Amino acid sequence: MTQAQTGSTAPLKIAIAGGSIAGLCAGIALRGVGCDVDIFEVNANSMHGRGAGIVVQDDLINLMKAHGTPPLPITTCSHRLFLEPDDAFNATDNLDPYNIPGKLAPMPQRFTSWEAIYQTLRAGFPDEHYHSGCRVTGFRQDNDGVTLTLNEGSEVRSDLLVAADGLRSPLRQQLLPEVEPQYAGYLAWRGTLDESRASARLLAAFRNRFAFCSARSGGHILNYLIPGPGAVTEPGDRQLNWVWYVKVPAGPELEHLLTDRDGRKRDLSVPAGKVPDQTRNHLYERARRELHPLFAELVQATEQPFLQSIVDVVVPQMVFDRVCLIGDAAFGIRPHTAAAAAKGAADAAALARQLQAMGYEPGAALERWQTHQLEIGRQLHRQGVDLGRRITGD
Ligand SMILES: Cc1cc2nc3c(=O)[nH]c(=O)nc-3n(C[C@H](O)[C@H](O)[C@H](O)COP(=O)(O)OP(=O)(O)OC[C@H]3O[C@@H](n4cnc5c(N)ncnc54)[C@H](O)[C@@H]3O)c2cc1C
Repeated sequence: MTQAQTGSTAPLKIAIAGGSIAGLCAGIALRGVGCDVDIFEVNANSMHGRGAGIVVQDDLINLMKAHGTPPLPITTCSHRLFLEPDDAFNATDNLDPYNIPGKLAPMPQRFTSWEAIYQTLRAGFPDEHYHSGCRVTGFRQDNDGVTLTLNEGSEVRSDLLVAADGLRSPLRQQLLPEVEPQYAGYLAWRGTLDESRASARLLAAFRNRFAFCSARSGGHILNYLIPGPGAVTEPGDRQLNWVWYVKVPAGPELEHLLTDRDGRKRDLSVPAGKVPDQTRNHLYERARRELHPLFAELVQATEQPFLQSIVDVVVPQMVFDRVCLIGDAAFGIRPHTAAAAAKGAADAAALARQLQAMGYEPGAALERWQTHQLEIGRQLHRQGVDLGRRITGD
């Protein structure tokens, strides 16, 4: 469809399936180069208040700055702290039990929360073009453009369709049915604890630090401070955010862990509030056996831990004529790379740059974009697999 056909003065009309991080980054970047963009997000309810911690990377910040979004709420640390389960500590010293040479290494870092990113990006994209509660159910394309079908049966015509519909991407399933998320052999227990509910000794040990501890039977746990609910960053209102990687073979044990408190078997994750009490109590007990007492306390103080299985998604191509896959829909990158959100932003920024550079000629622009982004995705995948070997011991 050309601008003449739509009556629009924009060089391209673009539809985006999925309004999370990658979809919003694409929406903002593509509007930034003059395109007419609509985002269709299946979730009907506000996505505020969901998700947990994310390490901040430059690609995301650069995109936000380039397009004038509000500043991203962030927390920072100055040091990394490395603990072992048997490290001694003074349980009564609330000041700083871990200011010990050899345990601390200077390493400034920035953190944020999924909610803070979502809120910041959402503020940078106009409400009238963000369509909540709209499931993209399919598409067909011809030489001139793409026709999307939406859940209520309506159709939307655009020049390009950007699939930013996540790890399980229904649009990818239509294009590459053979690509499925592959379980990596371990999962992440995760949780957040309000700073106001943490003991003085937890705050003393974890404040201003990105802390790590190995577990006795393999794997490790980490913790950093993130903005609290509502993306607030004031001390006292933030949250401790922990991630514990645990090796669990595919099979009955994994299936049991992925069964929620209503008895529903989930395929990738069990959200906060849905973990059965018995499973949660086993986690608490395991934390006591496996972790340093401070990390055990942190896990046990978390009322609603949640679970994510670690999976890989790798696509052989990202472009299908006038449809492209971005973010997790294209590459499910392991969390150790701390790169999934930034990769969504990088895919989006590069797409906008190429379209503008190639005079908004989709064929040529998407071809160049794919060559570069495929290589980045493959590199991050390899990096994640290498880091994951330390957990699985393979
Ligand atoms: C609610 C939520 C919380 C998250 N929390 C964290 C976190 O705390 N830490 C972390 O590291 N990562 C988190 N993630 C994942 C993180 O957002 C991604 O790994 C990364 O940022 C890349 O995102 P993405 O936009 O490609 O995929 P996703 O974030 O998975 O987004 C895909 C979006 O597509 C929508 N969608 C799916 N199918 C359709 C369809 N047919 N039609 C329309 N829309 C559709 C989904 O509802 C979703 O909003 C979270 C994702 C979500 C959705």
